[in-house]
Amino acid sequence: MLILPAFLIDVPGDPPKENWGARIVGDQIAVVAPNADLRRAYPADETWDAPDQVLSPGFVNTHTHLYGVLAHGIPLDRAPSDFWAFLKDFWWRLVEDRLDGEMIGAATDYGCVEMLRSGVTTFYDCLEAPHSLPGCLAAQGEVVRARGLRGILSFEATERVSRANGDLGLRENVEWIRAARKIGGLVSGMMCFHTTFTCSADFIRRAFELARAENALVHLHCAEGTHEPAYALEHFGMRTLEYYDHLGVASDRMLASQCVQISAREIALMRARGVRMSHMPLSNCEVGGGIAPVPELIAADVPVGLGSDGYINDFFQVLRGAFLIHKARQCDPRVMPANRVWHLATEGGARLLDLKNVGRIAPGWQADLQLIDAQFPTPAAIHNLYDQLVLYRNPAHVRAVMIAGQTRVRDGIVLGVNEAALCAGTQAAAANLWKEA
Ligand SMILES: [Zn+2]
Repeated sequence: MLILPAFLIDVPGDPPKENWGARIVGDQIAVVAPNADLRRAYPADETWDAPDQVLSPGFVNTHTHLYGVLAHGIPLDRAPSDFWAFLKDFWWRLVEDRLDGEMIGAATDYGCVEMLRSGVTTFYDCLEAPHSLPGCLAAQGEVVRARGLRGILSFEATERVSRANGDLGLRENVEWIRAARKIGGLVSGMMCFHTTFTCSADFIRRAFELARAENALVHLHCAEGTHEPAYALEHFGMRTLEYYDHLGVASDRMLASQCVQISAREIALMRARGVRMSHMPLSNCEVGGGIAPVPELIAADVPVGLGSDGYINDFFQVLRGAFLIHKARQCDPRVMPANRVWHLATEGGARLLDLKNVGRIAPGWQADLQLIDAQFPTPAAIHNLYDQLVLYRNPAHVRAVMIAGQTRVRDGIVLGVNEAALCAGTQAAAANLWKEA
């Protein structure tokens, strides 16, 4: 099949190409060339004409909590006073500890459809539901597989509830990593644990050892607010990432999400050890955590991707958040240009998650694509396309999404979805979840 758009973003961050397109064969991109050349060379191919659209790699959401949708609008006595109160009084008690398989299934299905609508073709999910063990990841995997996204699923193991529960969480990840490999396809696993304030040194080391044996990455939440660095200083006499380094686990196997309250020394450590970082600009604001030093991390060559954190899943808003907040923090409109944000949201994210040949439109790469409406009120051009897209597009402008060569969104409609049933599922799950709130 030939896809023939107005603009092609083939290497995210590089200048777009006007009137260039791609030839898709099976699950891969076979050829990238000017539209006219493609038509001439492959006259027998089916053509997908998109004369007013941009063809780009799909977005990679490097950190979400799909169950999070069920907490949208949950009644609270009062707003949490800080990050610790957010976890202790709200998130753990009223959300995580009450999740069951049915709620997780409904939220996962809704989240997959919401991501498809938003141009997301790949995601990493972190399930925090200590009383849904064991087997929750396999059940979640079935839902994701049915929607056709490229998904990496993990369970956030923690000793917060009990040691035995923590062990169950680690085992859930190992078993799911193995099971997903056996099944094959687009869904896979990752090791994951919570933080230094809910997991012991032994537990953290064990998570890394188990991941090494499975050749998997290890995800953790890191210094999302001032709570964790203060805890680490008080209990270990050093800051969060210094502590991980002290434990001998800071490495390129480590995917540290958030990294909001980190020092210049910790940034240098991340660079030296190859630690990866997922940036969640909007949820950092939500919890009053601060603003992560992302321009500094990028300057230090730390691999960075973007995530929604299951908070606002419209990925265009996540891009806008990343585009804007660093300019405000540094009082400098030059930091975080739009082409860099687009790279973080696509190829940068795929690289962060160790996905090979994902995030670019080039021969031999996976056909994970989106077509976005490029009819702006002012002319779209090579010099302004990234800015036009980052600032003025929304999920409503995503006309098509393809994952591994399979069309999942066409004419702006997610295929095979009963919207009423999808919403009824999350409404019922939320009503159940909110009983204690
Ligand atoms: Zn998170």
